[in-house]
Amino acid sequence: MKALQDRIKQDGNILTKGVLKVDSFITHQVDPELMEKIGQEFARKFRTQQITKVVTLESSGIAPALYTAQALGVPMIFARKAKSLTMDEELLTSEVYSFTKQITSQISISKKFLHQEDRVLIIDDFLANGQAAKGLAALCQQAGATVCGIGILIEKSFQPGRALLESMELPVYSLARIASLENQQIDFLGDDE
Ligand code: 5GP
Repeated sequence: MKALQDRIKQDGNILTKGVLKVDSFITHQVDPELMEKIGQEFARKFRTQQITKVVTLESSGIAPALYTAQALGVPMIFARKAKSLTMDEELLTSEVYSFTKQITSQISISKKFLHQEDRVLIIDDFLANGQAAKGLAALCQQAGATVCGIGILIEKSFQPGRALLESMELPVYSLARIASLENQQIDFLGDDE
């Protein structure tokens, strides 16, 4: 998606160890116009899949997932990373190792929001090793729901996340695919489609 790639080139900053900082438009300050376009693009791509729920992980996935859900006319659910005191009901849970924070956390969604008949589109901001998306897919599978696809804003294609998800037969659609962050330079692969 050209608008996202242009913005990454303009405002993305490369940190050490292959990490891209996009806190001025995605992960801290959020650009609503860009998020709306992203939501429309994911909705266009998955329109024919009869999606009933969009699922993401708090916090940076929420903005693009919400616009995607709005464009598809379905609810958005964000998995929580910490158990809230108000979550007294039964939970679907899974463990996720965070690439950026280097800690394992338990993620959860209340059982009352995901059901066997649901057809889920998973959305996340980044794809690195695939652990966040795999954990979200595990929550859906516990509910007996079908994961129809995974929509990613920024895929770091030099990391193994896509291969892992595809080996689980989970189709991945990424709006920006980064081939390399070497030498302080952001190189993109061709568009997914
Ligand atoms: P994975 O679970 O695929 O290894 O990593 C995806 C998660 O780690 C995303 O939810 C995102 O929060 C975080 N992440 C991975 N790589 C990056 C990165 O280069 N920059 C930022 N800001 N977050 C990242």
